[in-house]
Amino acid sequence: MGSILVTGGAGFIGSHTCLSLIEKGYEVIILDSLINSKNEVINRIKKICKANNDLLEKNLKFFKCDLREINKVEKIFSEAINGGNPIKGVIHFAGLKSVGESIKNPILYWDVNLISSINLVRVMDKFDCRNIVFSSSATLYGQSSKELLNEETEIKPINPYGTSKYGIELFLDDVFKSTSEIWSIAKLRYFNPIGAHCSGLIGENPVGIPNNIFPLLLDKTYKKKENLKIFGNDWPTIDGTGVRDYIHVMDLAEAHIKILEHITQTKNKNLNLNIGTGKGTSVLELIKIFEKTNNVKVPFEIVDRRPGDAASVVADNQLLKSTLNWLPKLSLEEMCRDGWNWKIKNPFGY
Ligand code: NAD
Ligand code: UDP
Repeated sequence: MGSILVTGGAGFIGSHTCLSLIEKGYEVIILDSLINSKNEVINRIKKICKANNDLLEKNLKFFKCDLREINKVEKIFSEAINGGNPIKGVIHFAGLKSVGESIKNPILYWDVNLISSINLVRVMDKFDCRNIVFSSSATLYGQSSKELLNEETEIKPINPYGTSKYGIELFLDDVFKSTSEIWSIAKLRYFNPIGAHCSGLIGENPVGIPNNIFPLLLDKTYKKKENLKIFGNDWPTIDGTGVRDYIHVMDLAEAHIKILEHITQTKNKNLNLNIGTGKGTSVLELIKIFEKTNNVKVPFEIVDRRPGDAASVVADNQLLKSTLNWLPKLSLEEMCRDGWNWKIKNPFGY
């Protein structure tokens, strides 16, 4: 059958996707440098698998490896062949993702994100593995004022994290164009993934101080010491606070498998695909739903707008629907319930 390589598989979205892949019967190889994740996540994935079916945990292999070390990456591909289970497809999550850090250190972002992707594609090509699903981001659309962002919306990233993602998209387009008979590529532009697996065993585990609203909301609510700072209540939105398209990480995991299967079966594809629910939620709405679902109080205060922020970022997901005949299913209540369950079971992460 062959195996699937998941780069960055120890990270937030990667770990949930690996679990879903294994539960669907895939053999999974995780390649991760652990620069933004912990070894423990591998044990947790195995624990969930074991609870469901003793045999499944055998379908997971882990290699601590930085994609910039091309010799090590080659070794992983050749060992898979020697073990009788060649890598047939790759889901490429590995990369750095902090907007603030990317502004301070663009060289690091272009080095890690671009060199990693170039090495990966070079090795894939060498080993005749040409199906890749790449983690791009809705951050590519910058501060577009359109109500719903579709894949044709102008690409205008406003920070080095975003430009590095766009650089990888362009690189993959060039690879596809040069050899369009053999590569199948999907570039997924995620909106705002939140939540966790319902077991509470795996979830988002940011190293350092988080920047995103959901891990901050969990932290401030759990610790009850400081307020969550809401960045502005004077945006042109329903209640003045920023609107985003939150998607449950388990829906996102399922989307990856469906897309990988789609591009592998149909071949010769080069897709750009928004992955969102198509539904916008303001920061105040998110807080209200979180409080109601979990019967807790979220301490918050309104502060100034954050530089570079956008009023509303919501997906037009019609292309996702027509391509896969599938849309995300899990509700905001489920995102809030599962995220809180993960937090109270692991207040300090792994
Ligand atoms: P994450 O940081 O939790 O996971 C990324 C993983 O990649 C980490 O485990 C890290 O250790 C690993 N990694 C980083 N550089 C590496 C390298 N050179 N070689 C090998 N491993 C390396 O992030 P995430 O939230 O799971 O995001 C996954 C991907 O999705 C990232 O590429 C990110 O840019 C993209 N994305 C995330 C979001 C989001 O809100 N979480 C939104 C849009 C896009
Ligand atoms: N936000 C906020 N306080 C925070 C972090 C974020 O009010 O501490 C708001 C932010 O202005 C935006 C929304 O929450 O409207 C989502 O922000 P996040 O950084 O999570 O995602 P992104 O802006 O990258 O889509």
